[in-house]
Amino acid sequence: MEDVIGKIHSVETLGTVDGPGIRYVIFLQGCALKCKYCHNRDTWNTNTGTNMSVSELVEKIQKYEEYIKFSHGGVTATGGEPLLQSKFLISLFTELKKLNFHTALDTSRYVPTNR
Ligand code: SF4
Repeated sequence: MEDVIGKIHSVETLGTVDGPGIRYVIFLQGCALKCKYCHNRDTWNTNTGTNMSVSELVEKIQKYEEYIKFSHGGVTATGGEPLLQSKFLISLFTELKKLNFHTALDTSRYVPTNR
């Protein structure tokens, strides 16, 4: 299976406000909406960010598996707008589901129609 590459802005390994329990929060790079009161403006640029494969990211997440699952937490994808990287997101969540991680998506529901 293809190891899809995503552009990651940053991660938070102990998030407590982006879903139930303790969350591994992934901030995906890129957002086209430019909301006036956005508090993550540094995620807007789609040409920056760190390239990371699904397998690399899953390996990093697994290091925190014990306390994520003990707290009934999981993994949250946010940004930026995570749906701009839907192929990466689908692959990542598919792999995480195989490992019984709870997943959550923080989105503006902006979905590009030209891709
Ligand atoms: S959708 Fe979210 S990340 Fe994008 S500009 Fe608006 S608040 Fe910022």
